[in-house]
Amino acid sequence: MSGNKAAIRGWTRTQSRLGRQAARPVVAFGLLSCLLGVGQAWCVASVLGHALVGLVSGAGANALALWPVFTFAVLAFIRALIMALSDTAAAKAGIDARRRLRGEVLASILTGGPALLRKTHSGELANIAVDRVEALDGFFARWVPASVLWYMAPILILLPVGFIQPYAALVLGLCGASVPFGQALFGIGAAMASRNQFLAMTRLQARFLDRVKGIATIVLAGRADDETQRLGQAADELRQRTMKVLRVAFLSSASIDCAMVIALVLIAIMDGRQAMALLSGGASPALTYTLTSGLFVLLVIPEFFAPLRGLALAYQDRAHAQGAATAILDLPEAQQRPSPEGARTVSASGIMISLEDVCFTWDPARGPALDHVSFTVPAGETLILAGPSGSGKSTIMELLLGFIQPDSGSVRLNGAPLESIVPDSLSRMVSWIGQRPVLFAGTLKDNILFARTDADEADLLAAVKAAAVDQFLPSLPDGLETRIGEGGFGLSGGQAQRIAIARAYLKNAPILLLDEPTAHLDPATEKSVFESLQRLALRRTVVLATHSAAVHMFNGRRVDLQAGHVAARQGAA
Ligand code: ADP
Ligand code: MG
Repeated sequence: MSGNKAAIRGWTRTQSRLGRQAARPVVAFGLLSCLLGVGQAWCVASVLGHALVGLVSGAGANALALWPVFTFAVLAFIRALIMALSDTAAAKAGIDARRRLRGEVLASILTGGPALLRKTHSGELANIAVDRVEALDGFFARWVPASVLWYMAPILILLPVGFIQPYAALVLGLCGASVPFGQALFGIGAAMASRNQFLAMTRLQARFLDRVKGIATIVLAGRADDETQRLGQAADELRQRTMKVLRVAFLSSASIDCAMVIALVLIAIMDGRQAMALLSGGASPALTYTLTSGLFVLLVIPEFFAPLRGLALAYQDRAHAQGAATAILDLPEAQQRPSPEGARTVSASGIMISLEDVCFTWDPARGPALDHVSFTVPAGETLILAGPSGSGKSTIMELLLGFIQPDSGSVRLNGAPLESIVPDSLSRMVSWIGQRPVLFAGTLKDNILFARTDADEADLLAAVKAAAVDQFLPSLPDGLETRIGEGGFGLSGGQAQRIAIARAYLKNAPILLLDEPTAHLDPATEKSVFESLQRLALRRTVVLATHSAAVHMFNGRRVDLQAGHVAARQGAA
């Protein structure tokens, strides 16, 4: 994770700006509720003030007026209503923002494509798209409104207090102003603790996913106990970091309590003195006013500190957002769609592929993966990319799929640079089959229809036949409706690959990219899969990466790659 601080701060600022618009109703409701709170405090103070004076003068409860009680009840009702509205508005702001961000993150992940998986664990990607975006809810629903309310609401309260008791307003103002210093002190710790907690969580998730996938390897190697222990350690690390986050949060809320108690004591002492001085004179309007206003100020103190407490609570949300920003900023930029003038589509059939002097480097420390590679595949012909493992075959495939762009040189389809082609139209033109097909948990039929959900029964059956899926259907309990597990669990490698071929038949795209499609198959199965592929390759432009000896079954041009450059050519490639 590259924790570029300036970039993270920039990201947080942009998100705050975007969030503030949606937070406006929440802020307005917050201020209104604060004013109502002040009104309620006055009602309570005036009831208590009158009662106290009544007690002192012996006049009893008949001095009690009913209007403050009634007003209090009305204000409380309105306040509850406003709180509900405010919560709804905050939840909506959070939901909208999460939807927007999840769209952005998914776009980035899709742009990165398989190239992204070469450096980031799939568990981490899932964590970013789900948990981290989810954790941003508090940032928009709580932090953004709190970051405005924390100073506006106390100022709003200081106005009536200053009017009634300037000294109390001064004390409150000073105590309130000291809070941000305490917060700054603990807040920094909170942000760091929360970022570490996120890292620990991501690590635990990635590790767990990895080990679940490799469960057979672990058990056979007799490492089950070891691995359980390691997972336990990772979980324990997460626990410790979580406790630290809680500890820091506790300290920061204690600093607010401290300021509040100081303000309360100072103001109570002052009010008490004033009341004592007047008390000797018996009941008087001056005494009633002093008691009422003194009680009012004391009652309003928690109201004054509430927005500050809200900010402290929401600080955790901001820290979470920064943790999420680190991960989100590490994703590649979502692909910019070419501007409408520059965008092009290429005719849907008869496509010529050409690479012109293409260079590409994954990691400068490891040298170029492709070094001035050029070749042409005329429309409807097949090019065989041969070469040992690591020679750059898959890199060429990813260039052709548009997941990565060449450092220099160009990839063209019918002469049009690949990056100028509308992404949707590119993905419609290309079928890709890799070493292991990606099959999802579901029925066989759903898995085939994945390529074209609107295909009718006749198309489906034609694809099933052409890919020779029908050869092994009788051995399955429910035929096409048989449920298979994630990754094609329950099927053999050859059977799974046939499903991928059936998908390609359904999609019927003019370009076919095959990246070592038979790498994991035994020679007999390989031969029959190659036969199906030969049929599929008819009338399409094909690039077939393989180092299989059976490749002579395909006639076409051939390019031999060696450590990223073209070592030999056969045919007119
Ligand atoms: P092939 O498919 O022919 O086996 P690849 O195209 O997968 O070869 O890899 C070509 C070279 O690029 C290899 O040396 C490989 O180590 C390197 N490479 C591939 N992906 C990355 C990556 N994400 N980071 C660094 N190097 C990479
Ligand atoms: Mg490869």
